[in-house]
Amino acid sequence: MARIFFDHISTTPLDPRVFAAMKPYFTEFYGNPSSHIHDQGQAALKAVDAARAAVASLIGAQPQEIVFTSGATEANNLAVKGAVEAGGKKGKHIVASEVEHFSVLNAMLPLRNRGYEVTLLRVDRDGKVDPQDVRKAIRPDTALVSVMHANSEIGTIEPVAEIGRIAKERGVLFHTDATASAGHIPLDVREIGADLVTLSAHNFYGPKGVGALFVREGVSVASQIDGGFQERGFRAGTENVPGIVGMGAAAGIASDEREAWAAHLRRLGKKLFDGIGETIDHLHFTGHPTDRLPGHVSFWVEYAEGESLLLFLNVHGVMAASGSACSSNLRGHDEEDLVASPVLRAIGVPSDICTGSITFSMGKGNTAKEVDEVLGILPGIVKRLWEMSPTYLDYQKQKVQGG
Ligand code: PMP
Repeated sequence: MARIFFDHISTTPLDPRVFAAMKPYFTEFYGNPSSHIHDQGQAALKAVDAARAAVASLIGAQPQEIVFTSGATEANNLAVKGAVEAGGKKGKHIVASEVEHFSVLNAMLPLRNRGYEVTLLRVDRDGKVDPQDVRKAIRPDTALVSVMHANSEIGTIEPVAEIGRIAKERGVLFHTDATASAGHIPLDVREIGADLVTLSAHNFYGPKGVGALFVREGVSVASQIDGGFQERGFRAGTENVPGIVGMGAAAGIASDEREAWAAHLRRLGKKLFDGIGETIDHLHFTGHPTDRLPGHVSFWVEYAEGESLLLFLNVHGVMAASGSACSSNLRGHDEEDLVASPVLRAIGVPSDICTGSITFSMGKGNTAKEVDEVLGILPGIVKRLWEMSPTYLDYQKQKVQGG
């Protein structure tokens, strides 16, 4: 049976070259970068500095503007909470899109409880934020605008350069979560006018558990972890040296190879998109048709439950993701609540007929043959689910009665 991994948006496999770069920092060079008085500490510090330069170079930043974290979740928390807390009196209002990742949306919850106000921006049917809505939402007390670079679930790339320009005009900090996009599409922090940018290594063939926040020179961010003075006081705690080395290696490889990956993934994405569109009825693609992540194809099928589609796909060896309609992991909701994915709700997918979307996200190692295999498997699974769906059977009955 095929084992086809089409879930690169949740994580990517570690590039063997990255693993090779990391290995010596588990065994041979085990020093603590803060103990740079001796050779072991020096070696670790040098490696962390080299990684910092490589990550900076991937996004057009200066090395001293990179703060290593435990991943994108921590970087988003540091960006959102840290920026408004450092903003003093000005920082009582935040503007964010309603399709942000939970690590942005939920980072704002404790702030709300402390009297901060949040304006959530609507998106259009393709999941795009209108930059003019950002302009309208900014108030004199706005401290931060946070709009993601690309959406994991529906693949849409947001107009971050325009949003960055507006935020700058109004003297407001601009944060973008580039977890899904960094290493895959062009991202230059100066071009998009960002003050804070979130990255995660495991989304571009690096290791899990390490990420970074770009903090533009001169921007104040209040540390969210109290302790020592690592990462120039932005983030206390002994650095994850092998992880950071891995992130640096992955960033270097992505800088060199990103364009070739994207060209390959665009070809695969088009093949999958065309094939699915031709073979499956009652299918609705989600996200922007062109401004989207390469190799990312997302859709929902009427009368076919997303989770069931995923389970059947997995039985056939195909691994994908679902923007589930039955997500109960939204904080503030009861465990039993059936809550539509906020992203699907935001783009106006009708909750009565949409029972979850599917996200196929391909990676540099996927092939056209794998796309063909998925195209061969998917229609049969959808047909089987329809045959088990009372609402589909009702629909068929009505169709027959209606002639
Ligand atoms: N932001 C986005 C857009 C994500 O998709 C994710 C999940 N990969 C995160 C943040 C959180 O990332 P991490 O798992 O590195 O904490």
